[in-house]
Amino acid sequence: MTKQAYIFIGPPGSGKGSLSKLCTFNMGWQQLSTGNLCRKHISEQTSIGKEIDFIIRSGKLISDDIVGNMVDQWLAESMQSDFSLILDGFPRNVMQAHNLLKMINEKYRALKIKVVRFVISDEIAIDRICNRYICQNHECQSVYSGDTLSGLGPKNGLLCDHCSFPLGKRGDDDRETVKNRLKVYRAFEQDMLTCLSQHECIEVNVERPLKEVFETFRVSIKEV
Ligand SMILES: [Zn+2]
Repeated sequence: MTKQAYIFIGPPGSGKGSLSKLCTFNMGWQQLSTGNLCRKHISEQTSIGKEIDFIIRSGKLISDDIVGNMVDQWLAESMQSDFSLILDGFPRNVMQAHNLLKMINEKYRALKIKVVRFVISDEIAIDRICNRYICQNHECQSVYSGDTLSGLGPKNGLLCDHCSFPLGKRGDDDRETVKNRLKVYRAFEQDMLTCLSQHECIEVNVERPLKEVFETFRVSIKEV
Protein backbone atom coordinates (compact mmCIF):
# COMPACT_ATOMS: atom_id res chain seq x y z
CA MET A 1 0.00 0.00 0.00
CA THR A 2 1.52 3.31 -1.02
CA LYS A 3 1.04 6.54 0.83
CA GLN A 4 1.60 9.98 -0.69
CA ALA A 5 3.92 12.56 0.83
CA TYR A 6 3.41 15.98 -0.76
CA ILE A 7 6.39 18.27 -0.27
CA PHE A 8 5.15 21.86 -0.41
CA ILE A 9 7.79 24.15 -1.86
CA GLY A 10 6.96 27.84 -1.87
CA PRO A 11 8.15 31.13 -0.41
CA PRO A 12 6.75 32.57 2.81
CA GLY A 13 3.47 34.27 1.97
CA SER A 14 2.57 31.81 -0.77
CA GLY A 15 -0.21 30.25 1.31
CA LYS A 16 1.35 26.87 2.06
CA GLY A 17 -0.15 26.91 5.55
CA SER A 18 -3.61 27.88 4.28
CA LEU A 19 -3.65 25.17 1.61
CA SER A 20 -2.36 22.66 4.18
CA LYS A 21 -5.25 23.52 6.49
CA LEU A 22 -7.79 22.94 3.68
CA CYS A 23 -6.21 19.58 2.82
CA THR A 24 -6.13 18.41 6.44
CA PHE A 25 -9.69 19.64 7.09
CA ASN A 26 -11.30 18.37 3.87
CA MET A 27 -9.28 15.25 3.10
CA GLY A 28 -7.94 14.20 6.48
CA TRP A 29 -4.32 14.67 5.45
CA GLN A 30 -1.64 14.95 8.11
CA GLN A 31 0.59 17.99 8.04
CA LEU A 32 4.17 18.21 9.14
CA SER A 33 5.25 21.71 10.01
CA THR A 34 8.67 21.76 11.63
CA GLY A 35 8.07 25.36 12.69
CA ASN A 36 4.94 24.36 14.58
CA LEU A 37 6.69 21.28 15.97
CA CYS A 38 9.55 23.45 17.27
CA ARG A 39 7.20 26.02 18.80
CA LYS A 40 5.17 23.23 20.40
CA HIS A 41 8.28 21.64 21.88
CA ILE A 42 9.38 25.03 23.21
CA SER A 43 6.02 25.96 24.72
CA GLU A 44 5.71 22.52 26.34
CA GLN A 45 9.31 22.78 27.57
CA THR A 46 10.24 19.28 26.42
CA SER A 47 13.95 18.40 26.48
CA ILE A 48 14.23 18.96 22.72
CA GLY A 49 12.23 22.18 23.16
CA LYS A 50 14.72 23.51 25.71
CA GLU A 51 17.56 22.62 23.37
CA ILE A 52 15.89 24.40 20.46
CA ASP A 53 15.05 27.42 22.61
CA PHE A 54 18.69 27.72 23.68
CA ILE A 55 19.93 27.44 20.07
CA ILE A 56 17.51 30.15 18.89
CA ARG A 57 18.43 32.46 21.80
CA SER A 58 22.09 31.96 20.89
CA GLY A 59 21.24 33.24 17.42
CA LYS A 60 22.16 29.92 15.84
CA LEU A 61 20.29 27.66 13.47
CA ILE A 62 18.72 24.39 14.56
CA SER A 63 20.88 21.62 13.15
CA ASP A 64 19.65 19.37 10.36
CA ASP A 65 20.17 16.43 12.73
CA ILE A 66 17.72 17.76 15.32
CA VAL A 67 15.15 18.53 12.64
CA GLY A 68 15.75 15.13 11.02
CA ASN A 69 15.12 13.34 14.31
CA MET A 70 11.86 15.23 14.87
CA VAL A 71 10.72 14.38 11.33
CA ASP A 72 11.74 10.73 11.67
CA GLN A 73 9.69 10.44 14.87
CA TRP A 74 6.74 12.16 13.18
CA LEU A 75 6.93 9.94 10.06
CA ALA A 76 7.03 6.77 12.17
CA GLU A 77 3.79 7.83 13.90
CA SER A 78 2.15 8.99 10.65
CA MET A 79 2.82 5.73 8.81
CA GLN A 80 0.18 4.07 10.98
CA SER A 81 -2.60 5.74 8.96
CA ASP A 82 -3.39 5.68 5.24
CA PHE A 83 -3.88 9.44 4.88
CA SER A 84 -1.56 11.47 2.68
CA LEU A 85 1.11 13.61 4.28
CA ILE A 86 2.03 17.24 3.74
CA LEU A 87 5.58 18.34 4.36
CA ASP A 88 5.44 22.10 4.80
CA GLY A 89 8.66 23.99 5.50
CA PHE A 90 10.67 20.80 5.39
CA PRO A 91 13.05 19.99 3.79
CA ARG A 92 14.37 23.54 4.22
CA ASN A 93 17.68 22.96 2.44
CA VAL A 94 19.40 20.50 0.15
CA MET A 95 21.07 18.62 3.01
CA GLN A 96 17.72 18.05 4.72
CA ALA A 97 16.27 16.92 1.38
CA HIS A 98 19.07 14.40 0.89
CA ASN A 99 18.62 13.14 4.45
CA LEU A 100 14.87 12.83 3.92
CA LEU A 101 15.25 10.86 0.67
CA LYS A 102 17.74 8.57 2.39
CA MET A 103 15.45 8.10 5.40
CA ILE A 104 12.45 7.26 3.20
CA ASN A 105 14.50 4.89 1.10
CA GLU A 106 15.72 3.06 4.19
CA LYS A 107 12.70 3.10 6.48
CA TYR A 108 9.54 4.30 4.75
CA ARG A 109 9.48 2.68 1.33
CA ALA A 110 5.67 2.82 1.14
CA LEU A 111 5.89 6.62 0.92
CA LYS A 112 5.65 8.14 -2.55
CA ILE A 113 7.02 11.69 -2.77
CA LYS A 114 5.32 14.34 -4.87
CA VAL A 115 6.59 17.90 -5.05
CA VAL A 116 4.07 20.75 -5.04
CA ARG A 117 5.59 24.01 -6.21
CA PHE A 118 3.79 27.22 -5.18
CA VAL A 119 4.27 29.79 -7.92
CA ILE A 120 4.03 33.44 -6.77
CA SER A 121 5.89 36.69 -7.44
CA ASP A 122 8.06 38.27 -4.72
CA GLU A 123 5.92 41.44 -4.71
CA ILE A 124 2.70 39.61 -3.92
CA ALA A 125 4.38 37.37 -1.33
CA ILE A 126 5.81 40.41 0.50
CA ASP A 127 2.44 42.20 0.55
CA ARG A 128 0.75 39.15 1.98
CA ILE A 129 3.28 38.54 4.77
CA CYS A 130 3.34 42.14 5.93
CA ASN A 131 -0.44 41.98 6.20
CA ARG A 132 -0.60 38.78 8.20
CA TYR A 133 -1.98 38.09 11.68
CA ILE A 134 -1.37 34.88 13.61
CA CYS A 135 -3.37 33.36 16.47
CA GLN A 136 -1.26 33.55 19.66
CA ASN A 137 -2.58 30.21 20.90
CA HIS A 138 0.30 27.74 20.33
CA GLU A 139 -2.10 24.85 19.76
CA CYS A 140 -3.92 26.80 17.03
CA GLN A 141 -1.66 29.28 15.21
CA SER A 142 -4.30 30.06 12.58
CA VAL A 143 -3.18 32.66 10.07
CA TYR A 144 -5.35 35.61 8.99
CA SER A 145 -4.97 38.41 6.52
CA GLY A 146 -5.32 42.04 7.54
CA ASP A 147 -6.63 42.71 4.02
CA THR A 148 -10.41 42.82 4.45
CA LEU A 149 -11.03 42.19 0.76
CA SER A 150 -9.11 38.91 0.78
CA GLY A 151 -11.87 36.98 2.54
CA LEU A 152 -9.18 35.60 4.86
CA GLY A 153 -9.58 38.15 7.65
CA PRO A 154 -10.80 37.34 11.19
CA LYS A 155 -14.56 37.73 11.77
CA ASN A 156 -14.38 39.34 15.25
CA GLY A 157 -11.85 42.14 15.37
CA LEU A 158 -8.42 40.79 16.25
CA LEU A 159 -9.65 37.53 17.79
CA CYS A 160 -9.21 34.05 16.36
CA ASP A 161 -12.33 32.56 14.67
CA HIS A 162 -11.49 29.08 15.96
CA CYS A 163 -10.36 29.60 19.57
CA SER A 164 -11.02 33.31 20.33
CA PHE A 165 -7.41 33.90 21.39
CA PRO A 166 -5.98 37.32 20.45
CA LEU A 167 -4.18 37.63 17.13
CA GLY A 168 -0.78 39.23 16.75
CA LYS A 169 1.91 39.91 14.22
CA ARG A 170 5.05 37.86 14.20
CA GLY A 171 8.01 39.98 15.26
CA ASP A 172 10.00 39.19 12.14
CA ASP A 173 7.35 40.19 9.61
CA ASP A 174 8.60 43.69 8.77
CA ARG A 175 9.23 44.50 5.12
CA GLU A 176 13.04 44.46 5.05
CA THR A 177 13.28 41.16 6.96
CA VAL A 178 10.70 39.61 4.67
CA LYS A 179 12.61 40.74 1.59
CA ASN A 180 15.77 39.10 2.93
CA ARG A 181 13.91 35.90 3.77
CA LEU A 182 12.61 35.76 0.18
CA LYS A 183 16.10 36.32 -1.21
CA VAL A 184 17.42 33.40 0.84
CA TYR A 185 14.46 31.30 -0.21
CA ARG A 186 14.91 31.94 -3.95
CA ALA A 187 18.56 30.96 -3.68
CA PHE A 188 17.57 27.57 -2.31
CA GLU A 189 14.49 26.91 -4.43
CA GLN A 190 16.27 25.86 -7.60
CA ASP A 191 18.69 23.59 -5.72
CA MET A 192 15.78 21.95 -3.95
CA LEU A 193 13.88 21.34 -7.17
CA THR A 194 16.99 19.85 -8.72
CA CYS A 195 17.53 17.63 -5.70
CA LEU A 196 13.92 16.39 -5.89
CA SER A 197 13.79 16.30 -9.70
CA GLN A 198 13.35 12.54 -9.85
CA HIS A 199 9.98 12.95 -8.20
CA GLU A 200 6.79 14.17 -9.81
CA CYS A 201 6.28 17.94 -9.52
CA ILE A 202 2.90 19.68 -9.54
CA GLU A 203 3.02 23.44 -10.16
CA VAL A 204 0.25 25.55 -8.63
CA ASN A 205 -0.34 29.22 -9.40
CA VAL A 206 -1.09 30.62 -5.93
CA GLU A 207 -1.65 34.25 -6.89
CA ARG A 208 -5.37 33.47 -7.03
CA PRO A 209 -7.94 33.25 -4.21
CA LEU A 210 -7.36 30.32 -1.85
CA LYS A 211 -10.57 28.49 -2.81
CA GLU A 212 -9.54 28.43 -6.48
CA VAL A 213 -6.05 27.28 -5.56
CA PHE A 214 -7.48 24.43 -3.52
CA GLU A 215 -9.89 23.28 -6.26
CA THR A 216 -7.15 23.38 -8.91
CA PHE A 217 -4.83 21.45 -6.63
CA ARG A 218 -7.49 18.81 -5.96
CA VAL A 219 -8.06 18.34 -9.68
CA SER A 220 -4.35 18.12 -10.41
CA ILE A 221 -3.70 15.41 -7.84
CA LYS A 222 -6.59 13.33 -9.19
CA GLU A 223 -5.15 13.61 -12.68
CA VAL A 224 -1.67 12.49 -11.78
ZN1 LIG B 1 -6.75 30.30 17.34
